[in-house]
Amino acid sequence: MNGIVYLVGGGPGDPGLITVKGLACLRRADVVLYDRLVAPELLDEAPPTAELVDVGKEPTRHRRSQEEINALLVEKAQEGKTVVRLKGGDPFVFGRGGEECLALAGAGIPFEVVPGVTSAIAVPAYAGIPVTHREVANSFTVITAHLCDGSIDWGSLPRTGTLVFLMGAKHLPEIATQLVAHGHTPDTPAAVIQRGTTAAQKVVSGTLADIAERAAGLQLPATIVVGEVVRLRPALDWFAPDGPHLTLVTNPEALPLYAMEG
Ligand code: SAH
Repeated sequence: MNGIVYLVGGGPGDPGLITVKGLACLRRADVVLYDRLVAPELLDEAPPTAELVDVGKEPTRHRRSQEEINALLVEKAQEGKTVVRLKGGDPFVFGRGGEECLALAGAGIPFEVVPGVTSAIAVPAYAGIPVTHREVANSFTVITAHLCDGSIDWGSLPRTGTLVFLMGAKHLPEIATQLVAHGHTPDTPAAVIQRGTTAAQKVVSGTLADIAERAAGLQLPATIVVGEVVRLRPALDWFAPDGPHLTLVTNPEALPLYAMEG
């Protein structure tokens, strides 16, 4: 009999940002297939007997392809196992979660999606930047700048809303140049947040004119925010990376959450 696959959003880095339901799935997993960006503390939440597979690491010489990951998910579920596919942020925000679901559906494997806290919203929040704010920005657009290969229609990006770029840090100079070429003013505020929501969080802010220069040397992963909401940051900058934080309760007995059926 087939097992089941839970596609779980692990949140952007702070392990406490996994959902209650995601944590419950993790705690009953036989197998966990996890990505590079998942908070390492979360793996301690899987049962000690669970098989943990790092699918973000190169198994031999090359990184596991999406097809290999899909095949592994199907294979483990066909062994009757409870499989957790633990992904950074939300599984359906640039996480290829849809492709994995299609592969599972095609193989007749039952699956559930447990949405996660996406870095597109949470990383700016930890930098004191709300993605929308009354009378400042009434929309936000999340864009992958992975390739900057011409697939972004720069002219169509709203100039009055917030723009959030994921996977774009390497392309920051081009992003800033393209936005200005397509109607953003050079003094539009911008920020880059490195390893947001973790103790290694660093934030650099500036304008489209100087952000690329200011952010040079930041590490990955990083999120880029462009728009007037960045101006709120000095007033709302609440997160102190070394400050006292509420942390994830790691003792399952202490947190009897989510009685799941079956
Ligand atoms: N599914 C994920 C996004 C995957 S794309 C989500 O919903 O969050 C990976 C990109 O997310 C990275 O290149 C980076 O732009 C962003 N990202 C993920 N974790 C981050 C973090 N802790 N700090 C800053 N950016 C992060």
